[in-house]
Amino acid sequence: MARMPTPTEITDLGVDGIAITWSDGHASRYAWRHLRLHCPCALCVHEWTGERLLHADRVPAGIRAVRLERVGAYALRFVWSDGHDTGLYPFPLLRQLCQCPQCTEAPASGA
Ligand SMILES: [Zn+2]
Ligand SMILES: [Zn+2]
Repeated sequence: MARMPTPTEITDLGVDGIAITWSDGHASRYAWRHLRLHCPCALCVHEWTGERLLHADRVPAGIRAVRLERVGAYALRFVWSDGHDTGLYPFPLLRQLCQCPQCTEAPASGA
């Protein structure tokens, strides 16, 4: 199993979202709303069925994180401007959600 890349630099881009530079050199970009919509917590995704309980129309267009903290060695926790703060984003999930041109043009093939 390859060593999991970890964030080395996290930059708040204001209204544009967030940029994360990883230990393997990858430079990720995320729109706030994209991250919020993919929150993996039990309130947003059904624990057993994986059904998404969070509806996009309930997430404000101008959503953004008001706080960001690292959780142990494996995840980031965002506190959102809509008050939601239960979502932990494990690093592998963040890599899947990456919106940089490289990731959006050529999705990783199950490697
Ligand atoms: Zn959530
Ligand atoms: Zn990427």
